Amino acid sequence: MPTDILSPIDGTVIGHAGRMDATAVDLAYRTARKALEEWREVPAERRGRILLRAAGLLEDRVEEMARTETLNTGKPLKDTRREAGRAAACFAYYGGLADKVTGDTLDVAGPFHTYTRREPFGVAVGVIPWNVPYVFAAKKIAPALAFGNVSLLKPAEETPLTALMLAEVLAEAGLPAGTAQIVTGGAETGRALVGDERADLIVFTGADATGRVIAKAAAEHLTPVAMELGGKSPQIVFADADLDAALASVLLGAFSATGQMCIAGSRLLVQREVYDTFVARLREAVTGLRVGDPREPGIQVGPQVTPGQRDKTLEMIRTGREEGAELAAQAPCPGPESGGFYVPPTLFTGVHSEMRIMREEIFGPVLAVMPFGTEEEAVELAHATDFGLAAGVWTKDLGRAHRMAARLRAGTIWLNTYRMLSDSVPFGGVDRSGYGREGGPEAVRLYTWTKSVWTSTEPGLPPGYDF
Ligand code: NAD
Repeated sequence: MPTDILSPIDGTVIGHAGRMDATAVDLAYRTARKALEEWREVPAERRGRILLRAAGLLEDRVEEMARTETLNTGKPLKDTRREAGRAAACFAYYGGLADKVTGDTLDVAGPFHTYTRREPFGVAVGVIPWNVPYVFAAKKIAPALAFGNVSLLKPAEETPLTALMLAEVLAEAGLPAGTAQIVTGGAETGRALVGDERADLIVFTGADATGRVIAKAAAEHLTPVAMELGGKSPQIVFADADLDAALASVLLGAFSATGQMCIAGSRLLVQREVYDTFVARLREAVTGLRVGDPREPGIQVGPQVTPGQRDKTLEMIRTGREEGAELAAQAPCPGPESGGFYVPPTLFTGVHSEMRIMREEIFGPVLAVMPFGTEEEAVELAHATDFGLAAGVWTKDLGRAHRMAARLRAGTIWLNTYRMLSDSVPFGGVDRSGYGREGGPEAVRLYTWTKSVWTSTEPGLPPGYDF
């Protein structure tokens, strides 16, 4: 039975996608292996040109991709247009990088010329969640192909549309058939994919609970894995910060994409001297957020992507109240009559670090704020979580900014900004947020392995090695 693809804007069915079973996954692997024989012989410069051609075609289709993504994820068009631009840019970045991968020559004692080569793994499997489907598909497929791998990409069952469109564009750009395949389906399809010994590399983005299951399945065949998991990131505002800029950034970090971001800055720590004034402004700003149909101009927050996620967020808002947190502000949002999966953007005060809403990833538009006194205390509160994906720090004191950047245990630190991402910059987490890095030079390390080559310039064994 194919899956109904729903629009979270009003709950209507906007398409269908197949649920690939074990036989279909087997065929995908056989096709991928065959495609690999051809693709690994394609010179890197030509691989790069195909990706660059794809980038151009994707740029021409930004509006179409953005509209599809908005319909399928409920994100405002302004955001999905930016994301569609990022996906095209991702292909341009890796297209340019394809023929710039180098090994090293290594100075060793004796009559040897010794060097390393970077080799593609082979079949690179990407598994992605539903929150940023198009950009994540690009970020899994483009580097895999650039460095000589073939790609099997499993989008989330709820949001496969832009990944399927992307595959069409890649074919149009001249990518040989079978080199990048989209494997549609849910957890069962994912299990068949990651449990197959023909997977040479698995790069997963999703929830940490799923990550643990995938890491175990991969261990069975010693398949290397990278894990981009969840977060519970702090945004830390010191009293000397530019508070106007901090406020705008805190709102973006917590409520854009309806809070469905691994890097959501969902815990706000504000220094006591400015706590009351900052929170007063924040309450006003949260109450005034414009929630509704993301195709309408001026809408800042759309629905959640899935009904399950909406229910989880509503349950966490209830939990927050039951735990004794104070519901400080809530924006109005469309009701059930809209058919959409809306939840009200919510601000909690009166929280402490042991509350579930302060420890668990909510993945919805919920922000909790608490005061702190000293730099020491800010670090301690920031670390009161098992996650380590990102953190934001707002201060005009340069020394403190860099002290904080050094001390905070998180994969990305933003100083006086938040949520900035680029293909040139490595991205990933520590602890419960995962391991492995995508992006920039780290992508080369992720998608290739090192081969060492020894050549004797005086054939034979050196003195003392006679057998
Ligand atoms: P999820 O883990 O439930 O699903 C992610 C993907 O894994 C989906 O494609 C799903 O079908 C597949 N899957 C599920 N079970 C599987 C199994 N046993 N074997 C193989 N594949 C399986 O995540 P979600 O609910 O779709 O997304 C939300 C989560 O993703 C959040 O925790 C969020 O923080 C995380 N996330 C992390 C990042 C990052 O870069 N660190 C980015 C975005 C989202």
